[in-house]
This record gives sequence, structure tokens and C-alpha cells, in this order.
Amino acid sequence: MFITYDEFSRRADAVRADIAAACARAGRDPSGVGLLAVTKSHPVAAVEYAARYGLPAVGENRVQEGADKRAATTAEVRWELIGHLQSNKAKLAATHFDRVQSVDSEKLLRLLDRAAAELGKILPVLLQVNAGRDPAKFGAELEDAPRLLDTALAQSHLQVEGFMTIAPLSDDDSVATRTFTTLRELRDQLAGETGALLPELSMGMSGDYAAAIAAGSTLVRVGTALFGARDPAP
Ligand SMILES: *Cc1c(COP(=O)(O)O)cnc(C)c1O
Repeated sequence: MFITYDEFSRRADAVRADIAAACARAGRDPSGVGLLAVTKSHPVAAVEYAARYGLPAVGENRVQEGADKRAATTAEVRWELIGHLQSNKAKLAATHFDRVQSVDSEKLLRLLDRAAAELGKILPVLLQVNAGRDPAKFGAELEDAPRLLDTALAQSHLQVEGFMTIAPLSDDDSVATRTFTTLRELRDQLAGETGALLPELSMGMSGDYAAAIAAGSTLVRVGTALFGARDPAP
């Protein structure tokens, strides 16, 4: 059974307090860290809870699941794709999502740009970088990021807002910290070189968002801490 709204609201209060505490420790203004409610594998009620609580956006990792949920609710939230995107789903993703965080190849950039042009829209994107060099994770290699960014900035129907990464699973907190710091430094360097602002750094999940905030995250993507455990994938 899915949690009640009251339970969600208590969890969300706790997460927000935690984010504020992490910001205080890092000497950062909490208004500089957004909270993305990751609703993947949860019922559409999760989206409605997030909207009712006042969270501006939800994250889904599968294109079709996100599109189906979006069609099933009138909740006023922005929809963000955070999961791996296959080329053959680029058009669907551009149609049903307000931002795609998981862009990790030049091929995807070109397909999304073409789809956005056909839809007559500018699609915001983040570039996903495998900043922790985790063989189990998607994302562009660090070495390929400059070229990926150049290609992204050259697309007329994409708005490149920054970067996203997922830290490797590890018992050692310093692994996440190193991953997030690496991405922030990469952003600073590439912003300097290109003159693009690249303000968004989507870093941190339920288990490591405090480390991400310390390293400069501007958006934490939180599922489990808000909604409880997900059912194992079928
Ligand atoms: C599932 C997922 C999250 C949320 O993970 P939790 O540990 O449940 O907070 C964040 N980012 C991405 C890319 C995900 O796939």
C-alpha cells in the first residue's frame, strides 16, 4: 500500500529540514537548492502529493511511465526525465517532459534538438556525466564532456542548463564527495571556457544529498526519503 499524504508530508518536512541543515553547514542559502521529487515506480498519487505539498517538479526514469502518469493527472508540476534515454524514445521524451537530465551523447542531442524543433519548443536539458567513473552508470565520460557541451550549445532548440551525475554506490562517503566535487569543478571550468552559465548541478539522492549540497548541488533528486522504498523492478 502506498503511503498517506500525511506520512508524505512528514517525510517532506524532514527532508527539507535536512537540506536546510546541510546548507547551513556549507554556508549556503537554502533557496539555492531545489528538491526534485522522484516519483518513478510509485503511483500517480505520488505526483499529486508532491504538487499539493508545493514541490515544483517530479522526476521519472522511464519515458513511457512518465508520459502515462502525466496523462493521468492534472497536478501542476514540471516533469523531468532522469533515467537513461534510448535514441528511439527521444521524440517521446521531448514531447512529454519539460526537461531531460540524462543527455549523454551527441546523437541524443541531435535527436532531441530535431524533435524539439518539430514540436516548436525549446527543450531544457542537462548533460549527464559519469563523474565517478562508475562502470555501472550511464553518462558521458569526463574527457568527452567538453565536446558534448560544444555540440549541445550549438543546437538551436535545446537550452543547456547544466549537468547531472549519479555517484557510485559506496559505503565510503568520500567517494560521493569526490564525484560531486569533480562535476562542480568541471562545470566551473567549462562555464569559464564557453561563457555559458550552466547554473544547474543536479547531484544527490536520498543517501548522499548532504554530501552533494556541500559540494555545490543546486538540485537534489529524492525518491526513497520522500515516498519510502520502491517495489523491486518487475
Ligand atoms: C531513482 C533515482 C533517484 C532517487 O533515488 P532515491 O535513492 O530513491 O532517492 C535519483 N536520481 C536518479 C537518476 C534515479 O534514477
